[in-house]
Amino acid sequence: MKCVGCDGQASSPLPFHYEWEARRFVLCHCPRCGMISLDPQPTSAEIAAFYTEEYFASGLHGLDRLGTDYESAADTGIAAAVRFLEREVLAAHSHPHSLFEIGAAMGHLLAAGESLGLVCGGIEISPEAAARARDKFGLALEGGRFEDLDLSPHRQRWDVIYAGDVLEHLQDPAAAVVKVIDMLAPGGVFVVRLPSSFDLLSSRLAIRVLPVLGRTMRLPDKPYHLHEFTHRSALYFFRRHFDEVAVVSSLIPPWKLNLKSGSAAYRIKNALHWVNLPVTYVAKRCGDRLVVRAKTPCSKRAVDI
Ligand SMILES: [Zn+2]
Repeated sequence: MKCVGCDGQASSPLPFHYEWEARRFVLCHCPRCGMISLDPQPTSAEIAAFYTEEYFASGLHGLDRLGTDYESAADTGIAAAVRFLEREVLAAHSHPHSLFEIGAAMGHLLAAGESLGLVCGGIEISPEAAARARDKFGLALEGGRFEDLDLSPHRQRWDVIYAGDVLEHLQDPAAAVVKVIDMLAPGGVFVVRLPSSFDLLSSRLAIRVLPVLGRTMRLPDKPYHLHEFTHRSALYFFRRHFDEVAVVSSLIPPWKLNLKSGSAAYRIKNALHWVNLPVTYVAKRCGDRLVVRAKTPCSKRAVDI
């Protein structure tokens, strides 16, 4: 399988896998760029079946383990969404006027953007979520896959394009970045949030210990993440497309973890998370979240020159 991070051919299995519909999906690691990808990749039909209405109504994404649902949690967090947008997303651009979100869910971040006076647009794979966002906020939100988005009304239109927890779900994240570059206005910025669970101390330990014990670990959830980024692989990946790339690691505090299993392994993971906290705070590495800010696409710079 060709690596989506570096086009390399060599990869080695990690001791982690998903199981879904009697199929096993093994996480494999590229030694050259650090990208981790499922082998085999789920088919397009399987991926479409992942994102039913249930995606936002249950499990990690629906937040039901916290006794609430995604929508009501987001509704109460509009002020937080405005702060997040200003600090984490818009600050990457000197004078943003427009914002496009890939994977806009029920539109709360774009609604926050409109409240700040931005021209907003977006796309969301779940047609139910997109319809809800259009009804609720009157947003120009399309339902469907970003891969299928018609580029013609979007070329060089957007100052800031944001994708939170999206790229790892795409079959070809590199193709998505090429599309984003086409959509960015001159001076535009691509801001990306990614999970980076395999940067964690607990994951690094498990990668070394599980093979010694002759074990592999089945991960809960459906195999939503076709690829897993780390700090290293994110830098490698985005520097192939942009000249200016900043990648910042952070850690979800242990008291906010949304663990999906009460097993001994997850209790160890939770305990190690407390050790991880000061490490990430001091070293700015080994976190479980990444924010990438990428500007000056390589191809556009070449054209400018
Ligand atoms: Zn690679």
